[in-house]
Amino acid sequence: NRRIVLAARPRGVPAPTDFRLEQGPVPAPQEGQVLLRTEWLSLDPYMRNLMEEVGPGYADPMPLGATMVGGTVSRIVESRHPRFKAGELVVANAGWQDYGISDGSDLMPAGDLEQPSLALGGLGMPGFTAYVGLLDIGEPKPGETVVIGAATGAVGAVAGQIAKLKGARVVGIAGGPDKCRYAVEELGFDACLDHRDPQFAQRLAAACADGIDVYVESIGGAVFDAVHPLLNLNARVPVCGFIAHYNEKTATGPDRLPGWMATLLAKRIRMQGFIILDHYATRFDAFRRDMLAWHAAGKVKLREDIVDGLENAPAAFIGLQQGRNFGKLVVRVAGE
Ligand code: NDP
Repeated sequence: NRRIVLAARPRGVPAPTDFRLEQGPVPAPQEGQVLLRTEWLSLDPYMRNLMEEVGPGYADPMPLGATMVGGTVSRIVESRHPRFKAGELVVANAGWQDYGISDGSDLMPAGDLEQPSLALGGLGMPGFTAYVGLLDIGEPKPGETVVIGAATGAVGAVAGQIAKLKGARVVGIAGGPDKCRYAVEELGFDACLDHRDPQFAQRLAAACADGIDVYVESIGGAVFDAVHPLLNLNARVPVCGFIAHYNEKTATGPDRLPGWMATLLAKRIRMQGFIILDHYATRFDAFRRDMLAWHAAGKVKLREDIVDGLENAPAAFIGLQQGRNFGKLVVRVAGE
């Protein structure tokens, strides 16, 4: 069993030496457990936060030497659990390793998908994040302007396409001309701006001539600085994440908080953070039903960025921190 463990707590963007590939025996399931073979591993921004101690309310940090956590699509190879059979494909949390053990409590059927890894992307956790963040917190109305950060990523691409389905005008923000072109030409966004463009703030203002009604926040930093002066009265800001700060936690430059607080108050803005794990019991079934239908009808396109081989997961994860992924980042660990 190959596994990738947390070798050191990163300082800034993770380095290859923060990870270590180890070999060990394939674990044996006890009574009530299943043995899982990882076929697909999901790489997600939240894992960066678990690599070190980040404030309260979030998940516990991974201990040094522990297997990196991660969602997987896994094949049950041996079952000593009454509810599961060998051969079944499930969504699991086996982490960055070839084999894992589960007591079944965290397993969901992967469904009968032509591309099983979609259960880790648009049809799974990130797509669900887009659905809850946009619809339940953002509440877009036809004709409103919705702005989406990390627009071609796992969450952003889905959020933007759902906003279009709901009749909103959608402006994306992405890193580089290729991603921006893709957002407009393939995903159907009305516009997409490159956040690395020196004229970004002016171009965003021009693209949002009627202001911004919903901003799906994933980035923070300079992008948020450009967005917040454009927010309209009663705007909604679902806070999915703030990836620009995951690797640099110390603020630099002047204190911009008073300016933001003034906008928040005067514009009666509703800004709401959320953690998607809280919503599975109440909203996952509705999401799955809607998303499967939209995807089957070609109304929501799901792009994946597939990396081959568990040993390549650290480099791919480091790339995710720098925008090198183009679409939902998944690792093919085994299988075709
Ligand atoms: P993505 O597939 O969007 O990949 C991350 C993207 O973030 C990169 O491709 C890059 O896109 C952008 N990015 C990375 N670093 C920076 C930076 N310094 N400045 C600006 N942009 C940057 O990831 P996900 O869709 O999986 O996640 C998107 C966000 O949603 C994250 O903030 C994540 O933490 C959050 N999230 C929150 C959940 C919750 O429960 N609240 C659940 C799932 C995700 P580009 O090249 O376009 O800049």
